[in-house]
Amino acid sequence: MPTPLTHFIAGAAISQVSPKTRGRHLRYAFVFGILAALPDLDFTAFFLGIPYGHPLCHRGFSHSLAFAAVLGIIGALILRADRNGARSFWITAMVAGVAAASHGLLDMVTNGGLGVGILMPFDGGRFFLPFRPILVSPFSPATFFAVVGSIIRSEILWVWLPLAVGSTALQCGRKLWNKGRDRQQWADVPLVGSEGE
Ligand SMILES: [Zn+2]
Repeated sequence: MPTPLTHFIAGAAISQVSPKTRGRHLRYAFVFGILAALPDLDFTAFFLGIPYGHPLCHRGFSHSLAFAAVLGIIGALILRADRNGARSFWITAMVAGVAAASHGLLDMVTNGGLGVGILMPFDGGRFFLPFRPILVSPFSPATFFAVVGSIIRSEILWVWLPLAVGSTALQCGRKLWNKGRDRQQWADVPLVGSEGE
């Protein structure tokens, strides 16, 4: 897995495409970030004696697209997205689901551990993507702190930087769009006293 911080950042970044946040951007970013980091709580299954490779253990059902869809609906409920109408609720749930699904997808590009049960419960297979540049984050604290520098470097390169570029492009695109719309609105306003000339 990438570190929980990187999963959180990915979810928070995805929250920017959610509709009608109306001054609640930080709350959306926080909730989406938590949804994206949440699937790794499945490591507690180890303490219950559930073996790695079991659908209910690490990288199993909790990392699937189906579970992400459920988390998306929970996220939209927490954010009371229904206040903006049913359409807004379901779009928010979908974007929150994408944030939660980003967890499994990021795990699929790590270079270690067991594959991800991304299609559970419909398919019990464990999958990786062909390109796996992110260093896996070990469970053991001693091993983790021994290699934490390399892990963070690989996450900055392959996750943080692309997210920062995408986020900046999105903000610039939005500004240009709004500027164009404002200009169009002013162009549509008739000049005072122009009638009858
Ligand atoms: Zn994970």
